Amino acid sequence: MNMVEETVLEIDLHALEHNYNYIRTKIKESTHFLGVVKAFAYGSDSVAIAKKLEALGADYLAVAYTNEGVALRDAGIKLPILVLHPQRVRYTTLIERCLEPSLYSPTMLTSFLQTAKALNQTNYPIHLKFNTGLNRIGFSENEVDFIIAQLEGANQIKVTSIFSHLAASEDLNEREFTQSQIEAFERISTKLLGKLDHQPIRHLLNTSGIINYPHAQYDMVRSGIGLYGYGNEASEDEKLIPVATLKTIISQIHKIGPNQSVGYNRGFISNSSMVTATLPLGHADGIGRTYGNHKGHVWINGQLAPIIGNVCMDMIMIDITGIDCKEGDEVIVFGKNHSADKMAAYSQSISYEILTGVSQRIKRTYLGN
Ligand SMILES: *Cc1c(COP(=O)(O)O)cnc(C)c1O
Repeated sequence: MNMVEETVLEIDLHALEHNYNYIRTKIKESTHFLGVVKAFAYGSDSVAIAKKLEALGADYLAVAYTNEGVALRDAGIKLPILVLHPQRVRYTTLIERCLEPSLYSPTMLTSFLQTAKALNQTNYPIHLKFNTGLNRIGFSENEVDFIIAQLEGANQIKVTSIFSHLAASEDLNEREFTQSQIEAFERISTKLLGKLDHQPIRHLLNTSGIINYPHAQYDMVRSGIGLYGYGNEASEDEKLIPVATLKTIISQIHKIGPNQSVGYNRGFISNSSMVTATLPLGHADGIGRTYGNHKGHVWINGQLAPIIGNVCMDMIMIDITGIDCKEGDEVIVFGKNHSADKMAAYSQSISYEILTGVSQRIKRTYLGN
């Protein structure tokens, strides 16, 4: 089963379709679906994922920064694209490429309005983001009156949606806090809707929110991690399929005796005869140094092999003593058979970081294209 000949990130678009359809079963038929494709679609390939989501009937896409949206427009993506954290210096580009800003502070609203005026826009779609407890970005509740005053007579822009973001939707111990965020969002958005002459849509839930707080789905939900196959809890993970699988091959196998060292700074010393394998990926590819010295493991022919010694820039060494394998065999770093959650747990990380950390130099291959 030597499927790959070099390190590749295999992107399974059938899995994406499965996950999309599964998440849709959690929401009402009428609820809009926004697919979050920021950070190269969680480290995979934002264009391939966005095209598939467009074909599947998603209603919206979201990216973090303007240049990510530009890349999607360059690739011919037509769906509306929400830019979650636009920077002022990119407002002109944003408007030129029909990208829709999330505006989250009085300074931002004022400056975006100026740009929209300068570029002779009418009803340019904007999204208002409120802080309901995450304390990251967002207007505060007491700025609603300021917003209303700014919007008065400002026909250059039009509020398309009002939204907020939950701080701990995956943590059921924080139910009370999350409920208070939902209530704050209800209060703020109701007040704003009452003062506008049109009805923007409302949205609040990310993937774990969709799973744990379906009563708060409002008009749209925003799913990222679930689309990529992870549900932040075991019972949901079972229903989802990892979209990205990082695969590599065994470059070389060494048989070494006791008291031999492996890798830089002699990070590993053998205490008996053993077999090691060298793999063609390293910290430059997203396998951080914290995975070295027996923290991280990879999957070979059904068995887990620990990373030994220090992670190099372009290579790692693993202990394959007792594992039936040979040079050229396929190794799964994470994905199907060995989830990104498991990989993350080796270094107190989370699936999100593992997925988004895969370097751009790794070739992407596709299933179900
Ligand atoms: C990244 C992000 C999401 C997606 O969250 P998941 O947990 O990956 O579903 C949703 N909303 C906002 C504002 C985000 O920044």
